[in-house]
Amino acid sequence: MLDFLNPVKGFAVTFRQMFKQVDTVQYPEEKLPTAPRFHGRHQLNRWPDGLEKCIGCELCAWACPADAIYVEGGSNTDQERYSPGERYGAVYQINYLRCILCGLCVEACPTRALTMTNDYELADDNRESLIWTKEQLLAPLRQGMEAPPHPMRLGKDEEDYYRQGPTFAAAQAVEEDMLGSMVSEGTVHDWARTGDDQ
Ligand code: SF4
Ligand code: SF4
Repeated sequence: MLDFLNPVKGFAVTFRQMFKQVDTVQYPEEKLPTAPRFHGRHQLNRWPDGLEKCIGCELCAWACPADAIYVEGGSNTDQERYSPGERYGAVYQINYLRCILCGLCVEACPTRALTMTNDYELADDNRESLIWTKEQLLAPLRQGMEAPPHPMRLGKDEEDYYRQGPTFAAAQAVEEDMLGSMVSEGTVHDWARTGDDQ
């Protein structure tokens, strides 16, 4: 073998790399989409009427290997209801200085209140802003949702709510869509959709 070539073999590797396509991404100006099931920051979800899915059970906190979640449960009352059922998450915090984005908390949640988004931009320069509160983690109110506290809108009791709530919500959405298109066609007046008296 030509041993005298050994010292220059490494330069051949460098030389080959010079003609390969560069994969550098100009972050943060340019952002590539993540994989669909990427584990990003968490989200606390809502039912279709806007009530919170979290029942303050703390199972996510117990499942967390990094001790990153802090939950304090509270009791719903008829006058002040944040979730269907007896309890809701009164205080909810995730410490992103500790979280390793493993997803075990999501697996432990019995109501699918906790899921993970694809958002990975979590860096900051102080401890306080990396402890996310319930208000930051809650999903935004979508069309047709009402900010809690309010009574259960999807059925007259809890069983109704859990068993038939999504069906009621879907039926309401279809009704809204139908009325919306009838309003735009001029078949009915807009007050029929909004429920406002003339
Ligand atoms: S993703 Fe893992 S580390 Fe982060 S809060 Fe959930 S269980 Fe804890
Ligand atoms: S997010 Fe889920 S597991 Fe955690 S306290 Fe709320 S309901 Fe329980």
